[in-house]
Amino acid sequence: LMSQQASRMQSLVDDLLTLSKLEGNPLPADFGWVQVGSLMRQCADEGRALSRLVWGRSQEIHLAFDDEDEIAGSETELHSALFNLVGNAVRYTPADKSIRVTWTAGANGQGVLTVTDQGIGIAPEHIPRLTERFYRVDRSRSRDTGGTGLGLAIVKHVLQRHDAELKIDSTPGAGSSFRMVFPAHRVRVAVTRSAELVNQD
Ligand code: ATP
Ligand code: MG
Repeated sequence: LMSQQASRMQSLVDDLLTLSKLEGNPLPADFGWVQVGSLMRQCADEGRALSRLVWGRSQEIHLAFDDEDEIAGSETELHSALFNLVGNAVRYTPADKSIRVTWTAGANGQGVLTVTDQGIGIAPEHIPRLTERFYRVDRSRSRDTGGTGLGLAIVKHVLQRHDAELKIDSTPGAGSSFRMVFPAHRVRVAVTRSAELVNQD
């Protein structure tokens, strides 16, 4: 029990530190072009490990992306944002249901990184408040899963620093979808594909 409490305290401190580093600081030095595909693979692997920890077995996590597409930003921060969403999907989705992580870059130049689950979902009245610090839909439920309510506040801050937006759609009992929408100036698609996209215009 003590080790459980200690690790809860550790993750709370980690999240608070992450948030305070994000607030009012310029983007860190690791800024550059980040490969979306490798970010997704990494977060999916970590998601499967978390899933084994939480559920005793790994949920299916499916990926769909175009190789070599990139986002301009901080790899550390983008990883933290995506893993927070994948972590939520794992925790708030039953063990026998699956999770999808997709990346699409459209002709308008925007790039969208989406995490979709088939979990418990979120009632509409909670959705506008989810990115507030410490906001949790159901305290008793979150206590079971060990959450502190800082994850989506971190996601929101990371996205603000990348000129991006978080969009949330959910149906209680059916599942949720969290979309991170990056503007064209932060997205670079593979050279071969950028010609195809232009031809679609
Ligand atoms: P942590 O700080 O450990 O991430 P948390 O998961 O409780 O704790 P957030 O990630 O900020 O906090 O999420 C806020 C709340 O939003 C959660 O407590 C949960 O009620 C709800 N939520 C987030 N993601 C999902 C999801 N995919 N499905 C259902 N509910 C979700
Ligand atoms: Mg969370």
